[in-house]
Amino acid sequence: MARLRHLQERKAMVAASLEMNRLGINQGTSGNLGVRVAGGFLVTPTGVPAAALEPGLMVEMDFAGRFAGDVLPSSEWRFHRDILAERSDANAVVHCHAMFATTLAILGREIPPIHYMIAAAGGPNIRCAPYARYGTQELSDHALAALEGRKACLLANHGMIAIGPTLARALWLAVEVETLAAQYWRALQAGVPKLLSKTEIAAVVESFGGYGQQPRITAKRRR
Ligand SMILES: [Zn+2]
Repeated sequence: MARLRHLQERKAMVAASLEMNRLGINQGTSGNLGVRVAGGFLVTPTGVPAAALEPGLMVEMDFAGRFAGDVLPSSEWRFHRDILAERSDANAVVHCHAMFATTLAILGREIPPIHYMIAAAGGPNIRCAPYARYGTQELSDHALAALEGRKACLLANHGMIAIGPTLARALWLAVEVETLAAQYWRALQAGVPKLLSKTEIAAVVESFGGYGQQPRITAKRRR
């Protein structure tokens, strides 16, 4: 058998899928991942539980939506493609139906600036994209619009998307979004959440660095 192209990326996607289950942000086979490779992207296959994933099951696609082989890509390949095509700051896309993010998405609510960590998603809120049926171009269009100037969004009556320069960063952000959603949900049960100002969040975005990341610890500083 010919050697698999992009073996490292494929292995990382299998590991990240298992990690999503371990973290409890994945429900059944609902989560999926997209990772940029030369000339296109890899996407997780449709309908395969994380425990049964293998590097060879990741589907390589081009930006025209074509793929070879008999493994079908995730039904959400369109938004993976469109995000990776449109966003030069993203090399990975994480999608899942995490419980609290999805709960807010069912209410059609965005996450406002309840905590400074919202800046990790790039701005003072995490928007909720309007509902469109799974797998459709309409859903992808709504997601891209909700992600403008952001690295994460909710999808109404569906779930969430987090993007990043690496798969590890996108997965980290997905967990942060779910944490913020859980905190917001809990605060709503007890009263009216106090919000941070746009100015304050802008300052935190700035301090996280131009891309809303943690300040980089250089090899020199680590020693
Ligand atoms: Zn979904």
